[in-house]
Order: sequence, then structure tokens, then C-alpha cells
Amino acid sequence: MIYLDNSATTRPSDSVIKAVSENMADNFGNASSLHKMGINAEKVLKDAKKTMLDKLSLDGEIIFTSGATESSNTVLFGVPKAYKHNGKRIVTTTFEHPSVENPLRQLEEAGYEVVRVAPPKRDEPQDYEQRVIDAVDDSTLLVSVMWVNNETGFITDLSKIYTAVKRKNPKTIVHCDAVQGFCKQPAKLLKADLISLSAHKIHGPKGIGALFCAKGVRFSPLLYGGGQQKNLRSGTEPVDMIAGFAEAVRSYPDCGRKFAGLNEKLSGMLSQLDGVVINSYNNSKNILNFSVRGVRSEIMLHFLEEREIYVSSGSACSKGKTSGVLAQFGVSDKDADCAIRASFSPFTEESDIEALAKGISDGIKRFRR
Ligand code: PLP
Repeated sequence: MIYLDNSATTRPSDSVIKAVSENMADNFGNASSLHKMGINAEKVLKDAKKTMLDKLSLDGEIIFTSGATESSNTVLFGVPKAYKHNGKRIVTTTFEHPSVENPLRQLEEAGYEVVRVAPPKRDEPQDYEQRVIDAVDDSTLLVSVMWVNNETGFITDLSKIYTAVKRKNPKTIVHCDAVQGFCKQPAKLLKADLISLSAHKIHGPKGIGALFCAKGVRFSPLLYGGGQQKNLRSGTEPVDMIAGFAEAVRSYPDCGRKFAGLNEKLSGMLSQLDGVVINSYNNSKNILNFSVRGVRSEIMLHFLEEREIYVSSGSACSKGKTSGVLAQFGVSDKDADCAIRASFSPFTEESDIEALAKGISDGIKRFRR
């Protein structure tokens, strides 16, 4: 099996499975219990929080959630409630994940003004972060910009946005969906007040995520109940999943060079095939989006699947629907219909890339009209 759909989800690593199962078996106490079992569970939470903060190189609070979808919903509904008088303008991009874009649509319906900034086209100068900054004014409550786009890998300089936004309006809260960049991009490039994270993109379990919250930043909780996690996220903490998330973070290797090599190899092999165009630019090297002209994505995806090669057509979240996000990156509707996303993991080998390129080449011979 050749799994090249790591931006959709990843295979839980052996050490993560071990951490989860050991905690399920031996450390099943409720972190709120006052006895030793509770204290042992609480220690796992504390250690996991430290692991997250160390990896982010940021100071603040970590709130565990059911995933990045919940983290971003918490921010987008909780910040407006906590800062009622800071204005009604929200600045974002035209290429956010649905877990950000759909809550924003709800806010729009409730009377918030949402300004969406488009990414630069391939050969445009990179003035897009400046356009985000320019859109911030005195009435801007929130800026929400993703770090790495899940479909093309496009990277945003969050550090530049954060610094300039705070200079322009110190009251504006900056949120980042950092799901696809976390552990893959250098942490020093990420700066935000609130950061959404997910475990299953880094070989952790599904259904566990986190929200980083900088000191002094507030939000109203999404869930009310037993008051766990300082009243910010009620519900018994899933200690086993959290242990797995922390292990995933600890064990994710530095793959910058490896990903760059794999990306270069795949781009090179694809460029030798007639009618294959690369859609990714300014991208995180673990993601490569390309279009195989004349062969629809779904046809190619299932052809590759027959060879046990797994890729994605656009974004897995959109269940094969034509991606509106690709249009934002200058991909025509016709090319979007033929788009394939390959995404790598630390387990990806050069031979996997060769098998994919061969599969694409054979698919073209079989299906192109
Ligand atoms: N944000 C991005 C960029 C993603 O790729 C995903 C995953 O599909 C999410 C958010 C949602 O994360 P989760 O599955 O943890 O809710």
C-alpha cells in the first residue's frame, strides 16, 4: 500500500498506538478525581500541554478539544461573545478550510462584516499578507488566516501578519488554523493569539485536537458543563487520546529536507508527462497539487487505488466535489476537475513517488481522450 493522502489523515504511528492503549489500560482515571488515579491522569494532561507549548515555542494555555473543527468554532463563536465592543469586522482569506469558512458565514448572517482576501496568483509579488494587514481597521475584532492551505500547501507568513496587525490595532485578535503546518513548518514562522491544532494529521489519533490561547486572550466557551479545563472546555478529558496526541508531537521528525526532496522528485517526474500541470506554489513541500489534463480526478484516483496508491482529488473534506479553493489559486474549472493532491509523511519513500508517477503515466495512456 502506498499512502499519499497524509493531508487528509495519517496512519497512527506505532508509538502513538502504544501511548493510547497503555493509557486506556492503565491510566483510565478521571483527571478531575482527587485520588491517585485522578492525579496520574492529570499529570498526562499537564505533560501533554507542555509538549504542545514547547513545540509551538509559545507561552499561554492549551485547551484540548475534539479536533481543529471544534477549536476553530470555539474561536469564531467565542471571541465575538467575549469582546462584544471591539467591532464587527473580521478579516480572513478566500481559501480557509470549511471549519473556519462555515462559522464565518454564520457570523455574516448575524451581522458581522467578513472581509476575504485572495491569495496572490502564481507569479504575482507576495503582497498578499500586506493586503490582509491593510484590511484591518479600528473596528476589526478578529483576523483568521490559515497557516498552510490543505489543498495546495500554500504558506502564509503568520508572523508578519501578527506583528503588523497588533501594531495597527492592538485589540484585534489573531487566529490561525495551523493544522497543516504544525510539526511540518518551523514553529518560529507561526505567531497568533489563538491557534487550532489537530492530532490526526501528524500520526496521532482522530477526534483529538487543541486550541492554543495566548496569555490575556479571552473567549466564551462553546460547551458548558462540568467546568473542566478552566471552564473553557467542559467534558471529561480523553486522557488516552491526549497522551497519543502528545506522543505524535514528540515523535514527529524534522522532515523539511526529506519533503523538499520528495516534492522535487515528484514535480520533476510529472513535468516529463504531457499535459500535467503543477497547481501548487509557495507551498509546504509535503503537499503537491497537480492536474492531469484530460483525465478526471475521480477516474485517476480510482485507477491508482487499484494499484493500492492512495491520493486525494482536491480536499478529502469536500468529498470529491470540485474545489472552489483551487480557483482562488488560479486553477481553471477544467484543471480543477482533473486535480490530484499527493501529500507525504515521514514514512514516504522515493519508491512511493516513482510508483505514483508511473501510475499517473499509465493512467494517462489508458484514459486520456
Ligand atoms: N483545518 C484544516 C486546514 C484541515 O486540513 C482540517 C482537516 O481536514 C481541519 C481544519 C479539520 O480538522 P479536524 O479533523 O481535527 O476537525
